[in-house]
Amino acid sequence: MEFALTAEHDLIREMAYKFGQLEVLPGLAERDREARSDRTMLDKMAEKGILGIGIPEKYQGSGTDYISLGIACEELERADTSARVVMSVHSGLHSLTILQWGTEEQKQRWLPALAKGDRVGGFGLTEPNAGSDAINIRTRARKDGDSYVLNGEKTWISLADYADQFLVIALLENPAEEGKSHVAFIVDRNTPGFHSQAIHGKLGVRAGNTGQIFFEEMRVSATDRLGDDGDGFKVAMSALDHGRYTVASGAVGIITACLDACNKYCHERKVGGEEIGRKQLVQQMIANMVAGRDIGRLLYYQVGWMKNVGMRHTRECSMAKWQNCANAFKAANDAVEIHGAYGYCDEFPVERYFRNSRGAMIYEGTHEIHTIVQAEYELGYRKDRPLKVTLPPFE
Ligand SMILES: Cc1cc2nc3c(=O)[nH]c(=O)nc-3n(C[C@H](O)[C@H](O)[C@H](O)COP(=O)(O)OP(=O)(O)OC[C@H]3O[C@@H](n4cnc5c(N)ncnc54)[C@H](O)[C@@H]3O)c2cc1C
Repeated sequence: MEFALTAEHDLIREMAYKFGQLEVLPGLAERDREARSDRTMLDKMAEKGILGIGIPEKYQGSGTDYISLGIACEELERADTSARVVMSVHSGLHSLTILQWGTEEQKQRWLPALAKGDRVGGFGLTEPNAGSDAINIRTRARKDGDSYVLNGEKTWISLADYADQFLVIALLENPAEEGKSHVAFIVDRNTPGFHSQAIHGKLGVRAGNTGQIFFEEMRVSATDRLGDDGDGFKVAMSALDHGRYTVASGAVGIITACLDACNKYCHERKVGGEEIGRKQLVQQMIANMVAGRDIGRLLYYQVGWMKNVGMRHTRECSMAKWQNCANAFKAANDAVEIHGAYGYCDEFPVERYFRNSRGAMIYEGTHEIHTIVQAEYELGYRKDRPLKVTLPPFE
């Protein structure tokens, strides 16, 4: 087994770290306080080629592997969750799912613009009455000649106001076969019948855009359908295999950010004339963060490697997402503790890590759902069947 990262991985880490420091962090505290997202961040990410990481050169992507995508997410979230969310949605949930499920014509049509960041992709699965039980969505797709007409709404959609196109999962009104009712489309926001609306008052990811998207008699061509009629739920689950990978790797970035802040504070802050870093209960919290970071990297590197070689990785990805997000939240909670009262205000970044890390235990499968998934695999209640189409291995 080969554990070494390549020189290219190191370069990606350095580039994403610098991007976070130079482009994401300046002004972030204000944007987060004012709950103001910055659309220009997407353009800056595009300029650096970040939005093409993990997409083959054939489709004008960077040609770097899937581990590179994880590393970029880790370093972006070390700066702020809002930057990593862009990767989760645009690259993970949207672009990689097109790479996996698209026909060659669809890949040629959509991927180059997405990889260059000329267009931004979003993902619409969740609805007001269907989150964890996403199979029970109500958005309808009515077949009409060579097109479909969509009616419904999606909520808690990242980049709702910014994405140019969305991967949307709907229910066929008259499925040809019972149980084959879900269908997936790439829909363009400039289609009549589409509109979006921001969600305000979020606990975290306040510098990121989240909202609702609505479809009213919105016509979508059959050529914009991803997979066949009846494949929609499989498409959604594939998308989550990609999105969860980016969330799992990003969570490690939060732990690293907690360590960055606590390492500094432990040496600066003295209690009774002694640096708080000398206190053993503080050391316990630091040690837990180090374990979370190092184990978290192993978990997501493994998933990245499985993606690279074309192996199914649903169980491993769920494990990485479940554990890394829980460890990131714990690290952020401990980081607040280590900073005492100063951790309780926005003079230090740890309160932001605390709020941001909470969200990742909800989206892309709640903490409880992943707990159940892991138990079900172990007990034999859940088994993965071969995928209809697989993500192309990294060549
Ligand atoms: C910041 C943010 C960004 C998001 N971005 C997107 C996006 O881009 N696209 C998108 O489609 N969605 C997005 N979501 C939605 C997210 O995926 C859902 O919120 C998530 O799947 C949970 O669904 P829910 O909120 O409806 O909670 P519910 O499913 O209603 O769950 C409520 C509670 O019940 C528990 N629960 C539910 N079912 C079970 C069960 N079977 N066993 C035990 N406990 C259970 C849950 O764990 C949770 O504690 C986003 C959410 C957030 C917060």
